[in-house]
Amino acid sequence: MLPYATIGDAAAALGRNLTVAETLWYNYSADKSDYFLYCHNILFLFLIFSLVPLPLVFLSSLPSSRLDRYKIQPKVKLSWPEMIKCYKDVMRMFFLVVGPLQLVSYPSIKLIGIRTSLPLPSGWEIFLQLLVYFVVEDYTNYWIHRFLHNKWGYEKIHKVHHEYSAPIAFAAPYAHWAEILILGIPSFLGPAMVPGHMITFWLWIALRQVEAIETHSGYDFPWTPTKYIPFYGGADYHDYHHYVGGQSHSNFASVFTYCDYIYGTDKGYRYQKKVLEKLREGSQSSSDLKSD
Ligand SMILES: [Zn+2]
Ligand SMILES: [Zn+2]
Repeated sequence: MLPYATIGDAAAALGRNLTVAETLWYNYSADKSDYFLYCHNILFLFLIFSLVPLPLVFLSSLPSSRLDRYKIQPKVKLSWPEMIKCYKDVMRMFFLVVGPLQLVSYPSIKLIGIRTSLPLPSGWEIFLQLLVYFVVEDYTNYWIHRFLHNKWGYEKIHKVHHEYSAPIAFAAPYAHWAEILILGIPSFLGPAMVPGHMITFWLWIALRQVEAIETHSGYDFPWTPTKYIPFYGGADYHDYHHYVGGQSHSNFASVFTYCDYIYGTDKGYRYQKKVLEKLREGSQSSSDLKSD
């Protein structure tokens, strides 16, 4: 809810005309409560969980396609009923845990100072805040995830997320209810440290989920724009963590690779990469010899 009766009042308060984006924001949010604006996240998450995985899930259901060579674990193929079951389980958790968590966490958002007011943040402000949120989330998630791989944490909680040893895009938010609650902390910590505008907060929640869906997609496409992000883990990186499963002591980080590098928990992954590379080089040189 904006504290201006008219758009002219808003311009007078800012001492300048509103930008196009600010006018749009004024028209949309002026008469809506902050609580209602915050709850938009429920709709965004529902749409992201449901729609973003669809092309990838559809792709993996095809009998064979040219994109199969980008599949990280090509031998594993889930049937449609299995994928629909995964989606249903995710939706059950969405309506029982994720949605209600959004509904009741509003006071904390007010407390840390997420604002809906004008002026809108600049593009740079949004970018830098999102960067902080991703780095803080990645670091905190790394340690919580690593903790969840102890015997108790894994058996009681984290095992559910590892039911998919070859993850699919729908399985990104597939987890025990306690894990969903616990991993809400890293997502909240960045905005609590550097509170921003509601639009930045929406973007943060949306981008984090899109990132998790890509990471769990089961495909490692060479043309994905995330390949250009420094220290970005990506699908191949996290897929290895699922492939190894409960015994995994590798690739705990959710977004970037530097935590696993610094704390020495990427050795298994690096070793596997090296072995695969040597095998590829070996088969390449033997096929060269044959063609000579
Ligand atoms: Zn894990
Ligand atoms: Zn995962």
